[in-house]
Amino acid sequence: MPGDSRTALSNVLQKYWGYDGFLPLQPEAMTRVMAGGDSIVVLPTGGGKSLCFQAPAMCLDGLAIVVSPLISLMKDQVDALTTCGVPAACINSSMSHAEKGHVANEIRAGRLRLLYMAPERLVQSRTIEFLRSANVSMVAIDEAHCISEWGHDFRPEYRELKMLKEVFPGVGIHTYTATATEKVRADIAANLGLDDPEILVGSFDRPNLTYRVEQRTDRLGQVLEVIERHKGESGIIYCLRRKDVDELTQALTEMKIRALPYHAGLPDDQRHRNQDAFIEEKVDVVVATVAFGMGIDKSNVRYVVHAAMPKSIENYQQESGRAGRDGLEAECCLLYSGGDMATLKWMLSDLEGDAYKAAVKSLDAMFNFCAGVVCRHRALVSYFGQEFPQESCNACDVCLGDLDLVDEPLIVGQKILSCVVRLKESFGGDYTAKVLAGSGEQRIKENGHDQLSTWGLLKDESRRNIRDWVEQLVGQGYLRKAGEFNVLEITDLGRKLLQGESEPRLLQPRAAKSKSQSAAADDSWEGVDRDLFESLRTLRRETAEQLGVPTYIVFGDAALRDMARRRPSSLEGFLNVKGVGEKKRADYGEAFLACIVEYCGEHEVSTDVEASSTSSRKAATSRPRRGPSSGARKAFEFFESGHSVEQVAESMGRAKSTVNAYLREYLAHATVEDPSPWVDSETTARVEQALDDVDGDRLKPVFDHLGGEVSYDQLRIVATCRNNRQAAIEGSAAAT
Ligand code: ADP
Repeated sequence: MPGDSRTALSNVLQKYWGYDGFLPLQPEAMTRVMAGGDSIVVLPTGGGKSLCFQAPAMCLDGLAIVVSPLISLMKDQVDALTTCGVPAACINSSMSHAEKGHVANEIRAGRLRLLYMAPERLVQSRTIEFLRSANVSMVAIDEAHCISEWGHDFRPEYRELKMLKEVFPGVGIHTYTATATEKVRADIAANLGLDDPEILVGSFDRPNLTYRVEQRTDRLGQVLEVIERHKGESGIIYCLRRKDVDELTQALTEMKIRALPYHAGLPDDQRHRNQDAFIEEKVDVVVATVAFGMGIDKSNVRYVVHAAMPKSIENYQQESGRAGRDGLEAECCLLYSGGDMATLKWMLSDLEGDAYKAAVKSLDAMFNFCAGVVCRHRALVSYFGQEFPQESCNACDVCLGDLDLVDEPLIVGQKILSCVVRLKESFGGDYTAKVLAGSGEQRIKENGHDQLSTWGLLKDESRRNIRDWVEQLVGQGYLRKAGEFNVLEITDLGRKLLQGESEPRLLQPRAAKSKSQSAAADDSWEGVDRDLFESLRTLRRETAEQLGVPTYIVFGDAALRDMARRRPSSLEGFLNVKGVGEKKRADYGEAFLACIVEYCGEHEVSTDVEASSTSSRKAATSRPRRGPSSGARKAFEFFESGHSVEQVAESMGRAKSTVNAYLREYLAHATVEDPSPWVDSETTARVEQALDDVDGDRLKPVFDHLGGEVSYDQLRIVATCRNNRQAAIEGSAAAT
């Protein structure tokens, strides 16, 4: 990028958005806009597409037009820009005459830099006439796959945009999408008549997402497990049918989880209310059909659960991609069952001919992904035709070791296939699994299958495991499902397995239930004071409520974490927080600083911490490591040899608060039961007594009970060791 442009863009990025660097491909995409040619930019969700045109729009003279398909998205983007101090507006049908007049005046006065509108409005002759006199600097077309019939969301009105090249000759047209295929790209270029567009395609991998795929055996229990891992955080649970949405919402609500439903069968106003409640963080969970999520831009969705299989990998990529748009770690958990295939096929039954065949092919690919045993990140990017360079992603169930490989997969595979042969290739997966498990079910007895030599051949395994293996054997091509009833048949490859000439890879769920955390999570929480983060979150919610905007428009989670990591005490230091530009500092600085200073004073936590090189956004762009961070690991060694917090802080040159965070991690990690190296025995005894005297899990009442004489850090140490002791006692009681 020419030096001048780069400096101008960097300055704008810092001043308005508070970012000190670019994400991958942003420099190239922005340079193209500055230079005036056309472009097609393909970046995954969360890849930072919006800034590719917003930042140059602030450097170029004139007005940038942004085409956006949904009014709700438009409004959020404009609100987000305005809170950063960027003069932006939109024009849409929900606005009054006077509001539209005001925007027109701002344009005439040359005060606006970005104008958002829907394609059908832009192509109206009145709009074009008006904009001809407005010095249009560039046109950005967001969600550009809507132009293509091959995209997943074709919108005929996008085709009309072809006229732009004629009515704004010489003005660069830049298109942005997360949809990958070459066909769609070629369609975009041809339909808009782009002039030798620069095509920039980023990696489709989303390293900050941790993927997990499980056979669905206990939907509610499995969903609860995920929610439990993300208490108080925002999550979306997708179901196939409205009925499932309603049932699951009700079950979660009964368990005191703040959840609301969303599907096309609900009245419009209720749907909007539920969506707003989720965006404003009045509820944590939305249970929805896939209709949900299109019109929202919420960046801090921390988990997406698919309670059933999606209909294609493209859909899965898009729906799961709604998690972690802010680049921070997020979890995507997919629960599937063989029955989903049948339901989805039934849902597709109104399609005909080639369209039906293509849809079924997509379903098969999706199913193979579910039953597959390769790294999920690798499987997804290879589906989209890209290489996955790393050996292990450290962010999926396969690579994190949540699933173990079966010791003797050939023998297990042969037992299963033999049973299919004995059943004369006439029964489905469920039935076959029951026979192998030695079920005494009436139907099996009536069929005489309890007399087969393969009956009970895998009786030491759970039926769920056997069922899983059947699916994995289907996914790897040893078995196939045939006919209306999905009866299992042996393939040619399966025959090789029976002869011992091909060995499958079979996974089984890990015995211990606890799921490993991806390294992205470790990194992006490094040095963050979580309680302060929670206090800042509350303040953000209150501020957003007063302003009537979604919470992430005030600050994203990444900015809040960086605040709780750096803990600035001055307006000057506040500007160093990633995601804080000049306008946000002026608008919210005082309030957020007051919260930080008060918290740090109350809890004896140091302020103005130099952030280490592990920035919050880095987690999204670099491949994460596994397990505790290197700083934490070093600290663990000191703790193991009984060093005090002060000694470790001095030896490592880290703030006491950071070392206290490492100690908390260490106590949990090493399940330490004795607090004596860090808290003297008299204080420990007082805290233990107070913990007995005060009800509940919160430490504030304990702190108050002790008259504020024992610091929160010390309270946490004693409480954690005590919890570890109790868990050990419960564990040994359960074992006996
Ligand atoms: P997309 O439109 O590709 O889904 P967004 O434009 O919404 O992505 O950006 C995703 C997130 O990344 C947003 O929270 C945005 O503020 C953040 N982001 C964008 N560019 C940068 C950058 N250069 N540095 C840090 N964060 C960035």
